[in-house]
Amino acid sequence: MNERQTLKINNLGHLEIGGVDAKALKEQYGTPLYVMDQAYIEDMCKIYADTLKKEYGDGMIAYASKAFSCLEIYRIINKMGIGADSVSAGEMFTAKTAGFPMEKICLHGNNKSSFELEYAVQNNVGYIVLDSYTEASELNEICKKYNKVQKVLIRVNPGIEAHTHHFVQTAKVDSKFGYSIGSGEAEKVVCFVKKQENLDLVGLHCHIGSQIFEYKSFELAVEKMTDFYKKLSDLYGYSFDVINIGGGFGVWYADGDAKKSCNEYAEYIKIISGALKRCVAEKSLKKPYLILEPGRSIVGEAGVTLYTAGRTKEIKGIKNYIAIDGGMFDNPRYALYQAKYSVVSALNMNAKKSNKYTIAGKCCESGDIIAEDVMLPEIKEGDLIAVLSTGAYNYSMSSNYNRNLIPPVVMVKDGESRYIVKPQTFEDLIRNDV
Ligand SMILES: *Cc1c(COP(=O)(O)O)cnc(C)c1O
Repeated sequence: MNERQTLKINNLGHLEIGGVDAKALKEQYGTPLYVMDQAYIEDMCKIYADTLKKEYGDGMIAYASKAFSCLEIYRIINKMGIGADSVSAGEMFTAKTAGFPMEKICLHGNNKSSFELEYAVQNNVGYIVLDSYTEASELNEICKKYNKVQKVLIRVNPGIEAHTHHFVQTAKVDSKFGYSIGSGEAEKVVCFVKKQENLDLVGLHCHIGSQIFEYKSFELAVEKMTDFYKKLSDLYGYSFDVINIGGGFGVWYADGDAKKSCNEYAEYIKIISGALKRCVAEKSLKKPYLILEPGRSIVGEAGVTLYTAGRTKEIKGIKNYIAIDGGMFDNPRYALYQAKYSVVSALNMNAKKSNKYTIAGKCCESGDIIAEDVMLPEIKEGDLIAVLSTGAYNYSMSSNYNRNLIPPVVMVKDGESRYIVKPQTFEDLIRNDV
């Protein structure tokens, strides 16, 4: 466990989050239950925003809200003074309903619909990140209709592919996202977008991957992006007011991942800020407004999911399964890409971890696993199990598969707890059925 003041083992040997004992959470709300630590989220927002200001100057942290989106999270990040990324009309609608200032939203997506583009323009979204020629033309037409000039960026691919502890520089670009700088394709799109009268091309955007620990890959992204800014300046006299380096900062999930305190996460911002200041000076570029888009690292470690252990099944010498009352409907990340998680026996935190278990969900899929071969004390039916670092890409990826109800989300802070997403009911399951 990556312990902290708001995530620790209390003197009863129970897991405690935001000052609330996991046992009390189970008793009050039942399981499965998503629990989110508000102080952690607020700390991360503040540390990121302060570090950007101090180390770089003009810029904006835009929380990538696809990591965890609901009304309350937009209220919290707004209160903390940061912006947001959105990737759909649904996310924009949620932000707007929460009273989020739309000019602090950056809209992404490789296939935004006409409706989404028009919705963004109507609602005065700050930036739209373009990812296709026809999208640029279409947006230009929409802006004409509304007699507006929209600030846009273009998603480019700097040819760095980064995952967790590794990155590669590659000329070959097979991503569905962005246009390659290396192939010359990005340059063509820039020239195309520059010609659109109702689009103001303020800068370029890249996002090199997710769950990246390697600082060097972010420095390299900054170098490649500013090389490209320089090239566009030399060739065409273009200059840009904005640069957006995306998100993707790695967080702790399990053994092998670096354990960082909130303050230590600032390092990602420092590295990027330092690299950008150096690059613009070396290349004599105008110092752009820097947008960074962390998602996972703001909410990931804030979240814990509580489950109750159900049936166990031992396949001698092969696997020892514990089934839980949740599964891929509340956390599909193992099923999607074998994501790793740490699992604890929430009311027996100090016991020796003597048994190896595979935590299986209750869905009708063999791949419905939450964590494979994790060490735990002996688990019995009814025990409270907690999976750590589930704040990002869990609730936001949840589904009603097998007509299971999506668990509610409870926010904890200073020993108090409250729903921020209420429990679904069976009525919700059939609400749209005809
Ligand atoms: C997903 C995404 C992010 C956030 O990534 P994290 O790994 O959650 O920090 C930022 N920008 C873009 C464009 C993304 O697609």
